[in-house]
Amino acid sequence: PDLAELDARVSVCRACPRLVRWREDVARSKRASFAAEPYWGRPTPGWGAQRPRVLVVGLAPAANGANRTGRIFTGDRSGDWLFASLHRVGLARTATSVHAADGQELVDTRMVATVRCAPPQNKPTVAERDTCAPWIEAELALVVESVRVVVALGSFGWDAALRSFAGLGWEAERPRPRFGHGVEATLAGAGREVRLLGCYHPSQQNTFTGRLTEDMLDDVLGRAAAAARI
Ligand code: SF4
Repeated sequence: PDLAELDARVSVCRACPRLVRWREDVARSKRASFAAEPYWGRPTPGWGAQRPRVLVVGLAPAANGANRTGRIFTGDRSGDWLFASLHRVGLARTATSVHAADGQELVDTRMVATVRCAPPQNKPTVAERDTCAPWIEAELALVVESVRVVVALGSFGWDAALRSFAGLGWEAERPRPRFGHGVEATLAGAGREVRLLGCYHPSQQNTFTGRLTEDMLDDVLGRAAAAARI
């Protein structure tokens, strides 16, 4: 399939009963508060450049963010932080991402969620993660050729990136690199290397507590932007 076909197929996936129920319950209960806009309430496909040099791997859509807008990291607080920083380092056209028709564009960058449906408390189960894994792997297979840098948000994104590249036959150094903010690892495959960068997830849990600051986010995304231009 191509990316458009993959998007169409994932957007009607119903493989995880608990997540299907949750994403649709949230949509039903919140729709009235956002009556002026369509409420997505379905799996969130990847979004951004078709031939990305930077791939950002997140956890899952936010219940009232991407689950509402249908576009990853769009319409929630994590996205506010992420897009502002991507814009500062030159990887997003504007500093905000409010809804799917706001004119925002990523520059040489694509974002994907590891689990494509919003989970309760932002915590998918291991079984849900594994059930969803073929979607991120299929998307990675379609874009990997152009990817130079992967930014993994949180340990969940880090593990997903390592697993997905391994699924394509790529190798990481041994022992297996451990997640940390600013940590770098190298993935090797198809006769070349891709840099993997760890970044704390810009969740409110991290940004409200000061565990992740704007400077820390700019540092990692700035390094990704610089590496992508090589
Ligand atoms: Fe399908 Fe993934 Fe959503 Fe599960 S989380 S229903 S596998 S898209």
